[in-house]
Amino acid sequence: MKIAIYPGSFDPITKGHLDILKTAAEIFDKVIIAVAKNPDKTGFLPVDIRVKLIKDSVKDLENVEVDSFEGLTINYARERNATVLIRGLRAVSDFEYEMQLSQANSALADEVKTVFLTTKPKYNFISSSTIKEIFLNNGDISKFVPEPVNEYLQNSYKC
Ligand code: ADP
Repeated sequence: MKIAIYPGSFDPITKGHLDILKTAAEIFDKVIIAVAKNPDKTGFLPVDIRVKLIKDSVKDLENVEVDSFEGLTINYARERNATVLIRGLRAVSDFEYEMQLSQANSALADEVKTVFLTTKPKYNFISSSTIKEIFLNNGDISKFVPEPVNEYLQNSYKC
């Protein structure tokens, strides 16, 4: 059984993330999408809300589990018996950082391989930070995020 971890901040999850996740779920037996807790950063949404919004957005994906973790991704991968890390690539600008990260991870845990995936072009430009910017300036984010995220932000997150 090939288990893959899709780690990230998912603050909040977007249709870009979801597209990557769906592709990963077609390739691997099981995919664990895991919110990385960063003790130095509070972020936009609390981690438990991010996890809940992901759960509500992936209900139809049977081989996907939602979780959160703290510490090194490779330690979490080992704990969960995962041998693959999924990362998404949007543009050349992502490449350098993602390349370094994957090389650092493989130096620490050679058995855990990073697989890079890309989205459909229509989701390529979407990032959590763009979504936050649009939302906080009263723009319409419904095209860019799964419905549970749009609903949550419209109803509960007013600043
Ligand atoms: P992180 O803080 O770990 O970068 P993110 O939630 O921003 O977490 O992103 C998680 C992963 O998803 C990263 O590999 C990122 O490049 C990828 N990703 C995010 N948005 C997109 C997108 N629109 N298309 C492709 N990959 C994406």
